[in-house]
Amino acid sequence: MLTDNHGRKISYMRLAVTDKCNLRCFYCMPEDGLNWLSRAELMSYEEMLHTCRLLVKMGVEKIRITGGEPFVRKDIMPLLTGISKLDGLKELSLTTNGVLTAPYVPELKRIGIRSVNLSLDTLDANRFFTITRRDEFANVMAALDAMLSHDIEVKINAVVMDGKNIQDIIPLVELSRELPVSVRFIEEMPFNGDGHVYDGLHWDYLRILDEIKSKYPQIKKLDDPAYSTSYNYQIPGHKGSIGIIAAYSRTFCGTCNRIRITPQGELKTCLYDDGVLNLKDLIRSGASDEVLQHALLTAFNHRPADGWEAERMRVARTGIHESMATIGG
Ligand code: SAM
Ligand code: SF4
Repeated sequence: MLTDNHGRKISYMRLAVTDKCNLRCFYCMPEDGLNWLSRAELMSYEEMLHTCRLLVKMGVEKIRITGGEPFVRKDIMPLLTGISKLDGLKELSLTTNGVLTAPYVPELKRIGIRSVNLSLDTLDANRFFTITRRDEFANVMAALDAMLSHDIEVKINAVVMDGKNIQDIIPLVELSRELPVSVRFIEEMPFNGDGHVYDGLHWDYLRILDEIKSKYPQIKKLDDPAYSTSYNYQIPGHKGSIGIIAAYSRTFCGTCNRIRITPQGELKTCLYDDGVLNLKDLIRSGASDEVLQHALLTAFNHRPADGWEAERMRVARTGIHESMATIGG
């Protein structure tokens, strides 16, 4: 079993395959987008597969593909198919904004993807446009339909933003009445590529729960699965469930089993660190698997205890200016 210096199991890796995106979500990036990485700065598919193969051999059991928007990167399916075939990998999943996703759903199902996280912060097409700055609501809903009709488990990720989508909390909870989806409300974090000034958390997990409880006093706590980052609930009679993710409050660090690889090959052993090892550079320098493995184990042995410590230890001491699109969520 792969563990860190705090005895936590490391079994889950998130791989961001691109920083590019076809939406401009208010909480993630500025209206004009980011200074996109050049092709040479991005890990190639071969380098990604190499990294995944090695980490699965070392003990990673679950890989999530994310971005930026995964389907914006050209010819993504062969990479997903290659990863899905890795010996020892128990689960491959992905996070998508749904804009280009619907036509890929049958193939995702065929390669064994059982669960997808779909980002959807509102059920109102106008507010969708205000939040994402793109008119793509219908395509996202088509992706949701396609996934449900192919029996793919869907978790809906909704970032809760003061002044933007508070009125959407209850309609999103209502979605779980007839649809077998898990609607997860996420605390807004400062990773917005400085699209706006993050002036602190206004809606923490407790306030979100209070808002839901005010409409559904009968809400029931569910058991949280091992390594879950969400507090899970169900409203009696609803087909789906509700989750609340304390992403800024960082209440789940004690059982964190995840690592992240950014599109440029940077390893993050915590969401709040600013990168601890560049795997792409090591691979391009001709490092053997033994050398890579040694570097990875060293990084795992210096993992901060929690996101607060990681934030204090950031090498760039100028605060958080990254976009979540260059981390992967
Ligand atoms: N483009 C894909 C999508 O939106 O699903 C995948 C990448 S996106 C960066 C991954 C997740 O990060 C999304 O669910 C998004 O809502 C979340 N996210 C982005 N910026 C965030 C922020 N500032 N605070 C909290 N969650 C954020
Ligand atoms: Fe794109 Fe996802 Fe960021 Fe929205 S949250 S801008 S969809 S990467």
